[in-house]
Amino acid sequence: MASPRPATADQAEFLEQLLGDGLLVDSGVQGIYGKGERFEEVRMGIDALLTRTAAGLGAERLRFPPLLPRRQLEASGYLSSFPHLAGSIFAFEGTEAEAALQQERAGAHEDWSEFQQMTDLVLMPAACYPVYPAIAARGALPPGGVFVDAGGSWVFRHEPSGDPARLQMFHQHELVRLGEPERVLQWRDEWAERGLELLRRLGLAAELDRASDPFFGRGGRMLATNQRERALKLELLVQIAGPEPTALASFNHHEDHFGSTYGIELADGGVAHTACLGFGHERIVLALLRTHGLDPGTWPEPVRRELSPA
Ligand code: ZN
Repeated sequence: MASPRPATADQAEFLEQLLGDGLLVDSGVQGIYGKGERFEEVRMGIDALLTRTAAGLGAERLRFPPLLPRRQLEASGYLSSFPHLAGSIFAFEGTEAEAALQQERAGAHEDWSEFQQMTDLVLMPAACYPVYPAIAARGALPPGGVFVDAGGSWVFRHEPSGDPARLQMFHQHELVRLGEPERVLQWRDEWAERGLELLRRLGLAAELDRASDPFFGRGGRMLATNQRERALKLELLVQIAGPEPTALASFNHHEDHFGSTYGIELADGGVAHTACLGFGHERIVLALLRTHGLDPGTWPEPVRRELSPA
C-alpha cells in the first residue's frame, strides 16, 4: 500500500469542514470522496463554462470512458515516467475452487491478488490520452491541425493524501491541440492567458508559473529540470489549503512525443506537435469554496453567473 502523504493542519481542517458540511462524502479511503449536491452543482457549472468556451473557439467535442486500453498506456511512456501513479485493472478468471479460496481470503480482508489476472484495461491516467490515437486513426491532420475538447473525464492517480485538493480520482477537463509546431505553441500561449482570465473572472487569485511533473526515480529529476527550463509545463495556481499554492490547471507541451508515438501526420507529411491543457474540476470547486465560502448561494453574483449552466 502507498504511504499516504501527510496533510498539514490547514488541509486536515479544510477536509473536516467539507465533510462536516456535506460537500464531500467520506469513503474511508483517503482521496476518494462522494460529492454532495452543492459541490456537484458548482462542478457542473465549471464543466459547462469550459465546454462553452472551447466550443466558441472551434473545439471538436470527443468523450471517452474513464478506462484506457492497456496497450495505449504501454505506448505512451507513462509507466516509465509515473509508474507510482498508474492503476491497472485485474479480474478473476479462475475455477470454482479458486473462487472459493479468493472469497475466503477476501472475507478475512487478506491479500487475494494471486487469484487476479491482468486485463486489457487500466484506469485513465490523463484525460487527453485517448485523443492522440483517435485523431491519428483519421489519417493526416487538416492544414492548421485540430482542437479537441475531451471533456471532464474521471482520471485516477495512486497517491492517497489527506489534502482534499489531492484526490485519487477526479475530473480532468482536457483541451488538446494537435498541429504544426508554431500553431500548437501559439495555442498554448493564448490559452495560458485565457485560462488565467477565466479563473480570475471566478474571483480566484490565479497566477501562471512554470512547473514540472512528479517524474519517478533519479532519472526523473533530470526530466523535471529539463521540463521546467524549457517551459514545457505551465500551471495556473491558486492558494487553497496548505503551504504551497495548488495547480487548478496545467499545460503540457509534448512537442513531437505523441505525434511520433501514434504517427500523427501533418497535412504536409511532417510529424504533428501536440499540447494539452487540463483543468481539475474538483480543485477549481475547492478553490472557490475556500475563497468565497462554503455556501455557493452567497457567492458574488458575477461568479454565480459564470457558473450558471445556461
Ligand atoms: Zn493531457
